[in-house]
Amino acid sequence: MNLPKPGALPERARAIASALGVDLAAAAGEDLVARTPVTGEPIAGLKATSPAEARAALSRAHRAFLDWRLVPAPRRGEVVRAFGERLRAAKDELGELVSIETGKILSEGRGEVQEMIDICDFAVGLSRQLHGLTIATERPGHRMMETWHPLGVCGVISAFNFPAAVWAWNAALAFVCGDAVAWKPSEKATLTALACHALWKRTLAGFPDYPQDIGVLLVGGADAGAALVEDARVPLVSATGSTRMGATVAPRLAARFARAILELGGNNAAIVAPSADLDLAVRAIAFSAVGTAGQRCTSLRRLIVHESLREELSGRLKRAYASLRIGNPLAEGVLVGPLVDRGAFEAMQAALAAARAEGAVVTGGARREAPGFPDAWYAEPALCEAPAQGDVARRETFAPILHLLPYRELAEAIAIQNDVPQGLASSIFTRDLGEAERFLSAAGSDCGIANVNIGPSGAEIGGAFGGEKQTGGGRESGSDAWKAYMRRATNTINYSRELPLAQGVSFDIG
Ligand code: NAD
Repeated sequence: MNLPKPGALPERARAIASALGVDLAAAAGEDLVARTPVTGEPIAGLKATSPAEARAALSRAHRAFLDWRLVPAPRRGEVVRAFGERLRAAKDELGELVSIETGKILSEGRGEVQEMIDICDFAVGLSRQLHGLTIATERPGHRMMETWHPLGVCGVISAFNFPAAVWAWNAALAFVCGDAVAWKPSEKATLTALACHALWKRTLAGFPDYPQDIGVLLVGGADAGAALVEDARVPLVSATGSTRMGATVAPRLAARFARAILELGGNNAAIVAPSADLDLAVRAIAFSAVGTAGQRCTSLRRLIVHESLREELSGRLKRAYASLRIGNPLAEGVLVGPLVDRGAFEAMQAALAAARAEGAVVTGGARREAPGFPDAWYAEPALCEAPAQGDVARRETFAPILHLLPYRELAEAIAIQNDVPQGLASSIFTRDLGEAERFLSAAGSDCGIANVNIGPSGAEIGGAFGGEKQTGGGRESGSDAWKAYMRRATNTINYSRELPLAQGVSFDIG
């Protein structure tokens, strides 16, 4: 499997973290263990943020916000531009750390940092475009407009599989919008978060006139996340993770009338229609289904195939899967790295057993041993072929399992695609314009992302990202997602000496 010598990766991770500015001695503790799924070895013991420290950090962030909101937005953008430059310089090292801590292949680790750089560029442009409307008023001598103001301290809770980019999607926008950001990263990817935070702090130190606590980090598990969710000084929480987490967080935020951006589980599908270009489709399907070892929120989990293509596509996918190199994600040519931990492997095996019990024929899915590393969890990607969509396919299993389901008519394929509780990403492979347009229409895919002739995974930052139903309904990153990080005021100005009332109401006090 071409794995590094024992101890080599933890040492490399610590060296990168230090080089990026993490004070490992100050971060050391016994509350959490940073580890690498590549070998299953521990990297460092870390201390969590205590509830008192979390409250103090939120107080500092709130005070910083009160000053930051007064800095003109294009000046705020200059700080984000400097951060993007720092990320460019750190791309290789930070990308490698992401790969070591999550197990994603090196080009994906670096791609994650590129995504951070891209959103910084986007946010810098946005810092000169935080515009409101001027609206026609019915009253003479009046003007009506809307103004966008900074919101406050924005909470960000992130998942293990995008340990850096999800924070950047939120933080780069929130900072140019004039907000402070309190980040609770995944307890499975704390070292990457410490490195990102150190890079941010170093950047901000180059702007000594600005408040230095607009970005604070709360380290820990669900408890540290709850500290954010419960704090009245946090008017918005953007939470990325499982639907189970969202179901806990959302009602608590609603109870105190805070805003929520929920980016939760997906159960993404692709339809392969009779006119599809199969060479292109097979490549796109393989990337979407097995990339990141099936641990993307947008990973392809269900393939809805026209019955005329079923045999051919199944054969081609099995051949493509057989040629995949599984192993050390840092090694050249490897495309499938490890699952994040034993729990993920066991969830995959449980899903495959349940699929078999439902009548599916399963190919692949076995464990690939990593000699000398009993706590590294590598698995062959699995294909499950079933005559109809069962309960297992309706659930999100965060592992490389692809369910192949046949269809006859496009309407049936769209119905299968939509017949799951989640609504994140979807796609269709077709050369038929009518089919593509039906899929994208109001009666087509019910997801937040709907693509034609590319897979459901691998979004770029310019579009708004998020999904419907149990995926949570949130949108972040591009398009007009920035509006969620600001509050809108409608202003009416009377520049006349009259006082006409709207709707013709008269109220004459003589
Ligand atoms: P998870 O739900 O276990 O954890 C996510 C984050 O939520 C972690 O930081 C965790 O500590 C925190 N958390 C958990 N319970 C909490 C609580 N009660 N209060 C506050 N915080 C709490 O998810 P994971 O295993 O890290 O990530 C995988 C899941 O994330 C998958 O379901 C995947 O689809 C989803 N995901 C979604 C998106 C998206 O944009 N829709 C992106 C990435 C991952």
